Amino acid sequence: MHLTDTQAEIKELARNFAAAEIAPHAAQWDREECFPIDVARRMGELGFLGMLIPEEYDGLGLDTTSYLVALEEIAAADASAAVLMSVHNSLPTQMLLHFGSEAQKEQYLKPMARGELIGAFSLSEPDAGSDASALRCQAVRDGGDWLLTGTKSWVTSGSLADVIMVMARTDTPDARRGSRGISAFIVTPDLSGFHVGKKEEKMGLRASPTVQLTFDGMRVPDANLLGEEGQGFVYAMRSLDNGRLGIAAQALGIARAALDASLGYAEERKQFGKPIREFEAIQFKLADMGARIAAARALLHATAASKDRGESTTLYGSMSKLLASEAAMWVTTQAVQIFGGYGYIKDYPVEKLFRDAKVTEIYEGTSEIQRIVIARELYNSYHSI
Ligand SMILES: Cc1cc2nc3c(=O)[nH]c(=O)nc-3n(C[C@H](O)[C@H](O)[C@H](O)COP(=O)(O)OP(=O)(O)OC[C@H]3O[C@@H](n4cnc5c(N)ncnc54)[C@H](O)[C@@H]3O)c2cc1C
Repeated sequence: MHLTDTQAEIKELARNFAAAEIAPHAAQWDREECFPIDVARRMGELGFLGMLIPEEYDGLGLDTTSYLVALEEIAAADASAAVLMSVHNSLPTQMLLHFGSEAQKEQYLKPMARGELIGAFSLSEPDAGSDASALRCQAVRDGGDWLLTGTKSWVTSGSLADVIMVMARTDTPDARRGSRGISAFIVTPDLSGFHVGKKEEKMGLRASPTVQLTFDGMRVPDANLLGEEGQGFVYAMRSLDNGRLGIAAQALGIARAALDASLGYAEERKQFGKPIREFEAIQFKLADMGARIAAARALLHATAASKDRGESTTLYGSMSKLLASEAAMWVTTQAVQIFGGYGYIKDYPVEKLFRDAKVTEIYEGTSEIQRIVIARELYNSYHSI
């Protein structure tokens, strides 16, 4: 994979930061189910939370490949750190950049790009997952404000975020407008009626707080409506097209870490008087792991270049996310096998990588939903990249 000088520098910066400040603590954060806010602030200081934001809004204004190589490095050290970075860069900040007013960009986007405010994205609800347009959280006008009532679920970084992009219905129960009845609101935890609810106890990504949010007539100023009323679902879907590239990079980081650990272990571990890497069964696993990672990364980077040329990423973004997440799950499964019993315990890193990989096949659109998108887009927008 050829990287420009700038992309190579960013990758190096991310790799060094991850090696020094993330990797040594990742197992402990996983065990204690906590992600130190200071680490998020440090990511902000280094520019990792404003990578795709233009310099005029205090970001680094980098190309998509630079962002994805940095994200892969962070994910290889800790998938929980990577999901914070991916959500922040891909979803709330991109929605503000593309659909926010200048006043909203000044108040929220700039400090988010500097990493002073952490962002989250809240679309899912207990009964609205893959079918997100079935969401029920309701916003009603009240003078110059909106009152929001409902429960949102699965909000990544929801308990530590300063700015949450919330999708809620603005149509009325007697005149439902489907996905056109959904608007996007900029929500901050200081609003009256905002509550952080249950924190999920997860299989993997345990350091990343995933929480429910409940809004009890939460008063949101009209100035916090993003873009046009009724367009929130469209804005969210457009951002998720890009978000999927970030999840693909996260999956690749997890897979690569599993391959690296397996290469080392297969050399050290001796059975029947020789290193297990000398057994063809192990070599074939390592070969397939490397090949699947390389193929998924090649597609992801081609998609990133296509995005930066201004082309739609719906088709190839879904393909990238599907292939990278399934590669991560497959590669980490092989890694546990290569480690044998030691792959099944927490003394070695592959147990955590295996647990962390699974969610990449679920969030920002399950693998089934990616296949539905891909099949549809093959008829609608097929083009080569
Ligand atoms: C750790 C974590 C973090 C998350 N972070 C966020 C976040 O920050 N913000 C946010 O808004 N959401 C977030 N989510 C929610 C996530 O996006 C949803 O879990 C996901 O979209 C799937 O929805 P669901 O869990 O309700 O599953 P369901 O939609 O109930 O799906 C259940 C099963 O049915 C399948 N299925 C559903 N519909 C179809 C269909 N039409 N055809 C074929 N199969 C189908 C699915 O693929 C899946 O296998 C997060 C989830 C997790 C686990």
